[in-house]
Amino acid sequence: MSPSLSPPDQAAVVIVGGGMAGLSCAASLARHGISDVVLLEARTLANARASSFGETRMFREMYSDPVLCRLAQEANRLWREEENHAGEQLRDTHGLLFYGESWDEETIEGSIPGARRVMDEQNIPYEALSSEQIAARFPLKPKPEFTGLFEPTAGAVRSDRVIAHWTRTARNAGQMLIEHCAVAGIDSDGGGVTLENGHHISAGQVVVTSGIWSQLLLAPLGLAPKLEVWPMLWAHYTVDPSLQERYPQWFCFQQERGDDGGLYYGFPVLSHSEDGRPRIKAGIDWAPKQLRVADPNAMDTEPPVRLVELLDHFLFNSVEGVQERVETVMSPYSMTSDVNFVLDRLNSKLSLFAGGSGQAFKFAPLIGDSLARLARNESTAVDLSCWSHQREAVRF
Ligand SMILES: Cc1cc2nc3c(=O)[nH]c(=O)nc-3n(C[C@H](O)[C@H](O)[C@H](O)COP(=O)(O)OP(=O)(O)OC[C@H]3O[C@@H](n4cnc5c(N)ncnc54)[C@H](O)[C@@H]3O)c2cc1C
Repeated sequence: MSPSLSPPDQAAVVIVGGGMAGLSCAASLARHGISDVVLLEARTLANARASSFGETRMFREMYSDPVLCRLAQEANRLWREEENHAGEQLRDTHGLLFYGESWDEETIEGSIPGARRVMDEQNIPYEALSSEQIAARFPLKPKPEFTGLFEPTAGAVRSDRVIAHWTRTARNAGQMLIEHCAVAGIDSDGGGVTLENGHHISAGQVVVTSGIWSQLLLAPLGLAPKLEVWPMLWAHYTVDPSLQERYPQWFCFQQERGDDGGLYYGFPVLSHSEDGRPRIKAGIDWAPKQLRVADPNAMDTEPPVRLVELLDHFLFNSVEGVQERVETVMSPYSMTSDVNFVLDRLNSKLSLFAGGSGQAFKFAPLIGDSLARLARNESTAVDLSCWSHQREAVRF
């Protein structure tokens, strides 16, 4: 537990979990002048076992689902407000390349034809690129049949900077953010929580934002949504300094072949290795079925050798100038069967965000604003019925 902070006996709002969702909710409440807020985090804020860990997340409006595309536009409006509050840039706008095969199926990140259709409908600017144009413009080696879409207004959220900004915002408002303080149970009416040491905190409202661990707290209440835990591999690779300005942010779509799920992504050079070499972040965007689990404590945290081989193979063969893998990490996706989130009121005193999969960070200001409205007994500002707790895809 944070040495100087003892949990109080009561609070207007108790938030369980200090990742993207919990901290964005706390910061939004802070901006509405609500300081009687306690955020309880079992480990440390945005810790290395949580889904929000790391320095970057992609943001884009290039979605195959028109609803997510519109919500991403709303989130981008809120990001601009967030940057005004922060007085610093929280996102880098350097564009995003979707490239690869086009086939008649949506993946967990959408598809090239689907995204093109939606961007046409919504008048979102993009460039269509051939395989030759991609190879000429970027240090990538696309197959001849590949095509691409480049969304110039997309880029990277600096997630570590965002977490630091929300932490400051909440603490400056007088809220209590207590680390190393695990919640063991939630009152059945949502009117309080019990800590692992037995201490009880009565709450006007409880907001559950405990990521893949939400199930453990909500199952005893019969309120757990149906979620799977996917262990996801990502890594940093050092690159040739002479190419460092040319790496794009990219997502490569390929059909599954054998044990190769075919979906890979990468970022431009946004940081350096400990010894000062430019590095890119890259990852695999699928989890083999045998690694997916229902129990968060059963998740494999060691990088599986075969997945590391596949990621290395893609990077060393499909991206120019890649030198050495210098950091390898497994982070969890909290997945629903329709790859959409759960953001909803569960009863009059209890709200939830979960199922953030590989795409929730870009929606963070919208998630925070919506959870804060629910905690203030208001409705969300935009229609979020696609994230309902009652929908078929997440009901047991
Ligand atoms: C590898 C990877 C890449 C991604 N890429 C992108 C991307 O490019 N773009 C994008 O938009 N999104 C992306 N995402 C998705 C996004 O990062 C996640 O959806 C988001 O971070 C989830 O945040 P969260 O707050 O719900 O969960 P978490 O960050 O997991 O936070 C939950 C917190 O709750 C705490 N907790 C758990 N149980 C308890 C308890 N009993 N008591 C107290 N605390 C508890 C945990 O310790 C944890 O800190 C990616 C995710 C991953 C893993």
